[in-house]
Amino acid sequence: MVTSQRTEPIDHVFPTLAQSHADRLRRYGVLRQVEAGETLLEPGTIDPHFYVVVDGSLEIVRETRDSETLIHVHLPGQFTGEANLLSGRRALVRIRARERSEIIDIDRPQLLRLLQTDSEIGEIVTRALILRRAELIGRGYGDAVLVGSRHCAGTLRVREFLTKNGHPFQSIDLDTDDGVQELLDTFGIRSNDIPVLICRCEVVLRNPSNEEIADCLGFNELVNLDQMRDVVIVGAGPSGMAAAVYAASEGLDALVVEMNAPGGQAGSSSRIENYLGFPNGISGQELASRAWNQAQKFGAGLVVAKHATRLLCEKRPYAIEIDGGQRVAARTIIIAAGAQYRKPELPSLHEFEGAGVYYGATFMEAQLCKDEEVAIVGGGNSAGQAAVFLANIATHVHLFVRSRGLTDTMSRYLIRRIEDNDRITLRTFTEITELQGERHLEGLTWRHTPTGDVEQRAIRHLFIMTGAAPSTAWLEKCLVCDEKGFIKTGADLTRDDLHAAEWPLARAPHTLETSLPGIFAVGDVRSGSMKRVASAVGEGAAAVALVHRALRE
Ligand SMILES: Cc1cc2nc3c(=O)[nH]c(=O)nc-3n(C[C@H](O)[C@H](O)[C@H](O)COP(=O)(O)OP(=O)(O)OC[C@H]3O[C@@H](n4cnc5c(N)ncnc54)[C@H](O)[C@@H]3O)c2cc1C
Repeated sequence: MVTSQRTEPIDHVFPTLAQSHADRLRRYGVLRQVEAGETLLEPGTIDPHFYVVVDGSLEIVRETRDSETLIHVHLPGQFTGEANLLSGRRALVRIRARERSEIIDIDRPQLLRLLQTDSEIGEIVTRALILRRAELIGRGYGDAVLVGSRHCAGTLRVREFLTKNGHPFQSIDLDTDDGVQELLDTFGIRSNDIPVLICRCEVVLRNPSNEEIADCLGFNELVNLDQMRDVVIVGAGPSGMAAAVYAASEGLDALVVEMNAPGGQAGSSSRIENYLGFPNGISGQELASRAWNQAQKFGAGLVVAKHATRLLCEKRPYAIEIDGGQRVAARTIIIAAGAQYRKPELPSLHEFEGAGVYYGATFMEAQLCKDEEVAIVGGGNSAGQAAVFLANIATHVHLFVRSRGLTDTMSRYLIRRIEDNDRITLRTFTEITELQGERHLEGLTWRHTPTGDVEQRAIRHLFIMTGAAPSTAWLEKCLVCDEKGFIKTGADLTRDDLHAAEWPLARAPHTLETSLPGIFAVGDVRSGSMKRVASAVGEGAAAVALVHRALRE
């Protein structure tokens, strides 16, 4: 006879540690008695501690303007905290002893040491902290309320910034939500102030910049910018985050400077299907959030909403100037600032990225448009190659250029192939003016500029091949770049390049090293890079091995 044995599902959000775990945890903190009603943590506290209940119970409550909501009661063997324990950012909840209790009190540096050394406890705790943050985000249990409208670009920007930074917030839409007037009156908000962010129930920010939001919510409070770093990484896209994970996990003091939020270009991809280990694909945002939690677990620092505005390269140690003021000194630097695709001014372009709008025409994108019509914008070689390639798969390719033709911008052989292919229509002096669709692109409207004639067609795939511009303007003349502004590294640096840059060492630059010793370039910002997530990640990791060599030099 076959019997089935039912097992209780493991609660990964609020797990109970075994006695053996608690014994090991004691080495990292102090045993404390707390009285009934005693508050251990207030919302807004920076750098919160980690508490493990030995005896008694702790309650987690969320404070709203005039009341408290009980979120959870931790019993013996359970522990407090969510992902802000990894980052040190402000606490979002209150922790209070429900009765006279005994706890292990562990500060954040000790907790990070524990997570890095004890893999068994580390796995249970890290997973719970991340799941709890996801739960807070899902329920909108944060310290920020966004008042705006889904039709307002500013509201979308703020929403995107908070989401990409993994910060929970409550959203109130002036167009659809009831009872908004009372809130507007309470905080003295007029409808033309939007988007408005109410921070920690106190501060009202009207159409705030990302930097103002980061300051108000304390995203960068714990990061010390005065300290000399082993490595400063500019950019928190896939290459910069890979560099941060490898550098911090190998004991280097690493700081990442990011002008927006973690994720980079990959963060705007709805599904990355060609990244190793994710057979069903992974959204760019999820990949970014996992990578960022991993980097923080190893102790990497991150400042967000801060631009690197200058590289001070005259002498070593080098320094990065942030937003034209503060200077961060660095023994080595990894530039992972990526590239930005030149995008046409189309109102809803962003909504369809990855859902009918693509920036690359590989086999993967091509499969999506089999036996359908496609449109390509661009007159360079990449647009030409894409047109010829896609014409084998799609029923028809419409190639849009604003100019009178391709001769000034495309190789002759590609022009000939386009002219000879009756599945490709070149539309000169033509601009796409509008995109239509709900969740996926469904149609395009274009205008022939000399005549003003407008046409609409049910095309579901648009390839933007107008080139990518590297984020290198801020480097001024410090590093040798190629003719398009991408940074040259390793063997791509010619003898003349090195002579002009006054390369000071007897050895040649390492593979990912720039024309200055100890400064590396990785990912899309590097001349000749593959423009793929996997290659960016690989280069970020590889650069760290070279950083070790540079630090020994
Ligand atoms: C919509 C879209 C979908 C994609 N889909 C795929 C895919 O499915 N598979 C794939 O392999 N590739 C895909 N790619 C390409 C892939 O995302 C990139 O190759 C990859 O993100 C490059 O990583 P990176 O770290 O080098 O640069 P980026 O991702 O560009 O990151 C650079 C980071 O540096 C920051 N930064 C720039 N300048 C500064 C400064 N001065 N100071 C501070 N911070 C700065 C930026 O804000 C950004 O966060 C896609 C790209 C896009 C746009």
